[in-house]
Amino acid sequence: MSILIDPAKCISCGRCCNICPGNLIETGNTDKAFIKYPTECWGCTACLKECPAGAIKYYLGEDIGGKGGYLYTKSHQDCINWHIVSSDKKRYHIQINKQESNKY
Ligand code: SF4
Ligand code: SF4
Repeated sequence: MSILIDPAKCISCGRCCNICPGNLIETGNTDKAFIKYPTECWGCTACLKECPAGAIKYYLGEDIGGKGGYLYTKSHQDCINWHIVSSDKKRYHIQINKQESNKY
């Protein structure tokens, strides 16, 4: 389970570095974020939700039935859009209102 950061999309805001509870993400010489300890990532998705550029992909491993699919987010003022790409390239979209996201 791990994430991958696309340096071409990263706008070097540093938000993922600050939010990761394990301090697993750093910025390099170019100020682009990268995951320094990918095997330590436990998939909390905090960095995805924080990234304003949709630069972080979260890989859905075989262990959770993902078979290589991935997801990423696009945040807007009131909502987070979760984009899921399955291993057979089908695309799904879920929109979550940020105010409602912690309600059960
Ligand atoms: S998914 Fe969670 S643990 Fe993994 S890099 Fe992102 S913030 Fe850190
Ligand atoms: S939150 Fe996104 S845009 Fe900002 S540094 Fe991290 S990967 Fe780059």
